[in-house]
This record gives sequence, C-alpha cells and structure tokens, in this order.
Amino acid sequence: MLKQNHRAWVEINLSAVEHNVRQLKKILAPQTEVMAVVKADAYGHGAVGVGQVALQGGASWLGVATIPEGIQLRNAGITAPIVILGATNTPAEIKAIAEHRLQPTICNPKQALVFHETLLGLNQVVPVHLKIDTGMSRLGVNWQQAREFVQLVQSLPQLLISSVYSHLATADEQDQTVMRSQQQRFEQVIETLKAAHIHPPHIHMCNTAGMLTSSKMHYDLVRPGLGLYGLYPAPHLRGIVNLKPAMQVKARISQIKEIAAGTGVSYGYSFITPQEMKLATVAIGYADGVPRGLSNRISVSLHQKQVAQVGTITMDQCLIDITHVPEAQVGDEVTFLGNGDNASADHWAELLGTISWEILCGFKHRLPRITVMQPDLVGQANL
Ligand SMILES: *Cc1c(COP(=O)(O)O)cnc(C)c1O
Repeated sequence: MLKQNHRAWVEINLSAVEHNVRQLKKILAPQTEVMAVVKADAYGHGAVGVGQVALQGGASWLGVATIPEGIQLRNAGITAPIVILGATNTPAEIKAIAEHRLQPTICNPKQALVFHETLLGLNQVVPVHLKIDTGMSRLGVNWQQAREFVQLVQSLPQLLISSVYSHLATADEQDQTVMRSQQQRFEQVIETLKAAHIHPPHIHMCNTAGMLTSSKMHYDLVRPGLGLYGLYPAPHLRGIVNLKPAMQVKARISQIKEIAAGTGVSYGYSFITPQEMKLATVAIGYADGVPRGLSNRISVSLHQKQVAQVGTITMDQCLIDITHVPEAQVGDEVTFLGNGDNASADHWAELLGTISWEILCGFKHRLPRITVMQPDLVGQANL
C-alpha cells in the first residue's frame, strides 16, 4: 500500500517488533518460551505481520483473544501454536477451534465438560490451557479448586492439558503486595498438582509487566503484549530492556490559511487565535483514533518542528498552528504519534488519565496500515 494515496495512515516498523522480542528474550532463561500476544489485531499493529516477525525474533507461541483472531493467523499460513486467551463455550466455537487447530483456554469444569462432549462427537482431541484465578477475579477457577479442576480435565480423553496458567492484576504497580500474593497462590497450585503427580507441560503467569518485574515468575513460558510494541507498562519498568515503539501515526495537511486575531477555531471555539495565525487543517480526527480529549493539549511534528494542535479535534480533521513553519504546504506529512517523548502513547495516555494499551488500540479501526521493515531506524537509536 502506497502512503502517497492516503490522507492519514498508521506506519508500523516490524523491525522494531523483532528487535523488541529479542530484547525481551534477553532477560529470560534459555528454556523459557515466549507467547507473543497479538490480540486486538496486535494492539493495532496488524496481527499477521507482527505474528510472523515475533516468531522470527524467537517467540514460539501466539496468543489471541478470540476465535476469529486465531483463524486470521491460520489463514495467513502461520503454523505455530495459537492460544485463545478468552473464554469460548458453544459447540460452534468448539468446532471452529478444532477445525483451525487453535488451543482454547478452559476456565471451569462445566466448560471442560461441554468441550469434551462436543469433541467426542467430532472425534477430535484438542490441547487445552487451564486458567486458574489467583486474584484477577476474571476468568478461571479459583485457586483453591485448582487441583480438582485439573484432575477432572485430566480424566477427559478429548482434552490434552498443554498448560496451567494464571494472570496478574497489578504487575505494573510499584507496590508488589498483590502480585506476590498471586504468585504464592499459583506456587501453591503447582505444589498441590505435583503432589497429585500432575506435571503440566507448561506453566505461565507473566504479562510484560510481570516479566520485567520478577524472573521467578517466568516459569517456562511468558506472555508479553505491550512490550512487543515497544512500550513499557510503567515508568519504573523502563530501562530494564531497550524497547523501541513500532507505531507511528501520520496525516497530511489538507488546507492552509491565515486566520485573523481573535477568531474562534473549530467546534465550540475552544481556541481563539491570540494574534493573526497561519493554521493548517490536517486530515485526521477522533474517528481515526486521535482522542478528542487531547484537543489543544498535544504537539505534532512537521518538517522536524514541534507545532501545537489547536481547537477541538473533530471526527475526521483537526487544526495545527503552522505560523512558524513557513515552508509547510498542502500534502505535507504531519506526525501525530511516535515521534519522541512528546508524541508517545505514554504521553497521550497520561494526558487522558488512561493507559497506553488503549491509545494503541484506538488506531485499529479506520486508518490504513503501512508496514515497513526499517532496521536502520531501530539501529539509529544506538542499540
Ligand atoms: C493481554 C494479555 C497479556 C499481555 O499483556 P501485556 O500487559 O500487554 O503484556 C498476557 N496474558 C493475557 C491473559 C492477556 O489477556
């Protein structure tokens, strides 16, 4: 896809993803495997492309949230094991899982029995991942019931236990109290299983934050998402490995004009020109993923200069102050996200009181995605 044809687009440097996988692997023991979490279209980065380079970079599993996400990867020819991290329940879902060789998460005894029944009818055996709730209170059996649950699944011949896993609720917080207690509960589960002579082939509990926090929790598999995309789950986790953001969001100038002093700009006149100004309209808005709450609060980059976004961000367009960029012309590229600290997903998230995960996922709906392999860009940053 040629970017020349677009008013606005997302640019993904897959070399950065590959670099990030290699960086994350540096803190793992050699036998610990990586499940690259590529749910939600790889947090807006494109699941197929990210999945492929993550596998190249040393991941050996892929994790998705839904069945269609898994099917998309299979249809692209990816043969690595694909785990569905969300819950699936209906016979139609189970049939799709078996047909596309996906590996489901099993969260409770009832679901295990439905899987068994349905798979018996299909004459299929499927590798499954058993979810234990150690304190997230979302999916999984409560840790106190883990042994009975695992034993039940073990007794069902159509289900082949591939792993036992849990998920951390607060790994990105500096206070590790909750995380430690989750880890202890999980350790207890593993001990009870051992005592019952159950040895799951894989054990895992780390997202990116857990992975960066404690090597004791790596076990033999980790499940990074955010880190693959070059962002840190929290400021105190920066610098442990050297990650490079893979996403940039760019748009073109569609009109330029002089606006007299004291003139209201865009919906609601949230900005009034303090003096005569040269403003450019840029063809990107909140429907594309630039949150409206950032209106009048961000700077963007144009011809290597930082310029202010002014006025309310509208659905498809917004305005920038180019008074001090005389060379700016219609058609010029403006970089919104991914160009220095001022334009990072972290910065936007902080301004909005949300998390960088949500900012990234905002760009998966409307904009075309242009994928590049630019190892030099990663290299230039002195790695
Ligand atoms: C999304 C998800 C991850 C990845 O989390 P990050 O914080 O993005 O690293 C890992 N495990 C599960 C179960 C998830 O749902």
